[in-house]
Amino acid sequence: MKRILIIEDEIAIAELEKDYLELSGFEVEVETTGDLGLDRALKENFELVILDLMLPNVDGFEICKRIRQEKNIPVIMVSAKKDDIDKIRGLGMGADDYITKPFSPSELVARVKAHLARYERLIGSGKKENEIIEIRGLKIDKTARRVFVNGEEKIFTTKEFDLLTFLAENPNHVFTKEELFRDIWDMESIGDIATVTVHIKKIREKIEFNTSKPQYIETIWGVGYRFKI
Ligand code: CA
Repeated sequence: MKRILIIEDEIAIAELEKDYLELSGFEVEVETTGDLGLDRALKENFELVILDLMLPNVDGFEICKRIRQEKNIPVIMVSAKKDDIDKIRGLGMGADDYITKPFSPSELVARVKAHLARYERLIGSGKKENEIIEIRGLKIDKTARRVFVNGEEKIFTTKEFDLLTFLAENPNHVFTKEELFRDIWDMESIGDIATVTVHIKKIREKIEFNTSKPQYIETIWGVGYRFKI
């Protein structure tokens, strides 16, 4: 469940926001002073903060600034005065949204959901996972260009890696040596289709348990090779 912190000194407003957000499935905590609110915002894991501007002890300006320095979470700032909102915007406080009191609680909920969805998209695209091909005990990490056999890393040259990855990405497809040479080596490369045979042999020595009975790269006599899955 997503956790939201409300920092608001007007209890009635805080309770109203809390009720609506809880009805929408959020876990909500309330702090009524700036110092306690700031402390919890920094120390605990909240997915979003709803922040009143005028607060006892530490005001919303300072809290917003501190959260921005340490956390990557949406902050929705709330103020009773339209003028204040304009002022905050002008200062570029770094809040994600501004709402003027009085506001409808359902509008607040809608904005909370929109900001959480936006952050999820941002964070999701930021930590993209490595592209990995996994077939039985063989694991090819395309992003890191590393190969593991039953958990043990095997060192591959560039062309060995390219050839293995190409075959593994096109399983059960028979390729001739000519096709493989054309796809993996460019036309100006020195060498011929015997290069393919040599590379297949080297790859097998690294990934196969028994190279005379290969379980991954199969020789199709008179034609070429096929990656079995
Ligand atoms: Ca206030």
